[in-house]
Amino acid sequence: MHASAGEKHVSGAERIVTSDKIDMTVQDLVARARKKATAPDQIVVKVESLGNTSLRSLAALDVLSLPANDWNAGRTHASRVLQRRGIAKQAIEKAIHYLDKGPAPSGHSMRGAMIMDARSGERLEPDQERGVRVSRFDWSEDALKRIDHCLTVLGLKHVRTREALCLATKVAYGPGLLAELCWSDDPDYVAGYVASLDTGYMRFPALKRSGSPKGGRVFFIDRSKLDMASLIRYLETEAVMITDVGMCGSVLDREVL
Ligand code: AMP
Repeated sequence: MHASAGEKHVSGAERIVTSDKIDMTVQDLVARARKKATAPDQIVVKVESLGNTSLRSLAALDVLSLPANDWNAGRTHASRVLQRRGIAKQAIEKAIHYLDKGPAPSGHSMRGAMIMDARSGERLEPDQERGVRVSRFDWSEDALKRIDHCLTVLGLKHVRTREALCLATKVAYGPGLLAELCWSDDPDYVAGYVASLDTGYMRFPALKRSGSPKGGRVFFIDRSKLDMASLIRYLETEAVMITDVGMCGSVLDREVL
């Protein structure tokens, strides 16, 4: 589902369901878009058969919830984690700059994500207004129950967290992908995360100022290993079901920062 108001991205969501659940799922997605603070003037729901496409089964990244409530401290910690993952400081600074000002050339948020060279910070996504939209990912019913329980224990009941974790898990397995940085463009939602196969999903309670309508996603890639066509094919079209959960903990359990 993708909802917009004029040029502005308002809401988006992805599901993979059996055919008997299509009607109910479409209704849920439309209801969800209509609940947004910005009323959409267009809601597009695309229903596609996966046909004989094989579903790749993945285990969710480990989840680590960090304590930095102040967005400045959050960014400092997030930057440190990304640098340890091999992302150059100048690339991280550029990523933060784009997320802060609205990454599309028009100054709006994008529908999709930026793809950024982890050394230089150069943007490589073919369409900078739209970005690359990750699609075809969801939780299996069993994994969904288990992750809801884990996240609730951590106090992370918001549906956004489990959806972001699902997306971040698919992204982390992308060919040539080193790490992701994300914070929402919803003015009331200031949390964000850094995710990668090494670090797991590290959630920060604040990565931006409250009230800011700017945000997005950056996928840092190792350019020497980049095959853009394969990466985009994987992100947009390969179907991934998260069928297992990783560990869930808070920073009190592990020394990470
Ligand atoms: P959200 O977490 O839904 O507030 O989304 C924040 C930003 O992440 C959006 O403005 C988009 O730029 C980006 N985004 C959201 N969903 C996707 C997706 N499926 N694939 C790529 N980027 C996305």
